[in-house]
Amino acid sequence: MIEYRSSRWIRWLMALAVLGIGALSLPACGRDDDRVREAAETPVETFLSPSPGEVTALAGTPTPTFRPLELAPTPVYLDRQLADTDETRAARRRLVQTRVAPLVTDDTVIGAMLAVPRHAFVPTQYLDLAYNDHALPIGYGQSISQPSLVAMMTAMLDLEAGDRVLEIGTGSGYQAAILRQLTDQVYTIEIIPELAGTARRIFEELGYGDIHATRADGYYGWWEFAPFDAIVVTAAPDHLPAPLVAQLSPDGGRMVIPIGPPGGYQSLWLVERHGEEITMERKLDVGFVPFTRETE
Ligand code: SAH
Repeated sequence: MIEYRSSRWIRWLMALAVLGIGALSLPACGRDDDRVREAAETPVETFLSPSPGEVTALAGTPTPTFRPLELAPTPVYLDRQLADTDETRAARRRLVQTRVAPLVTDDTVIGAMLAVPRHAFVPTQYLDLAYNDHALPIGYGQSISQPSLVAMMTAMLDLEAGDRVLEIGTGSGYQAAILRQLTDQVYTIEIIPELAGTARRIFEELGYGDIHATRADGYYGWWEFAPFDAIVVTAAPDHLPAPLVAQLSPDGGRMVIPIGPPGGYQSLWLVERHGEEITMERKLDVGFVPFTRETE
């Protein structure tokens, strides 16, 4: 998830290396998946979206004909170390000083990165890697993003307290928790039920229970709570989803989104909306997991 600028040939080699590493780590991810799945078979807890409010579908953009409020299984056994110790705090400070502060000057973002215990969002088998500047597997073929990239994307959103922000791709929940440090209006959508359920439980355990989280195909955004001052997409579609643009505030709304072919490297874009005028600025090259669709 770092910035890659290289020739096509080097990219090929890197892709092969990533495939190799992926294959090596598969058994470990598999075990983790089984445990979460087993846990999910026992009691389940619903988390439905909070008070639906008014549905404000904008004209001319696709909306799903049926989007049920679905169950997201809450794991009974949570494979996370939630406690924040002197050791984890010190490791986090080191990470922020060496990898984040050189890239991001916004003090509020730095403060958020210092506050959120990233180790609590990764499976315990990766605890000792939680404060390295790398993406890590979280099961179901997905990963928690690299911390320096989370910080850069958050800074691009230029959030002010009270802004309403939507994240597509809750994953581990880490990025959403960072956003919650900056504003109390955080909405996040995850397509994989087990990940949505696990993130929900971590939010509650860590005191982020007022993050609005749901399980759905985030392509359609979250109409009930639009418009959003900011939208951050943490999986890569191959085009800019029209419903997300429609739900971006016309009053200077900002969206950060990686766009590119599935499985390849993508460009990270900063999209800004002023009235009906949309501007797009290409920021850096990144490698995110693919944006999947409900129908696949
Ligand atoms: N922001 C996350 C990164 C997770 S990786 C974090 O901080 O950990 C991206 C996530 O996007 C994955 O969990 C994947 O399942 C999810 N995703 C992919 N397509 C999606 C879609 N259409 N709607 C919602 N989530 C999606």
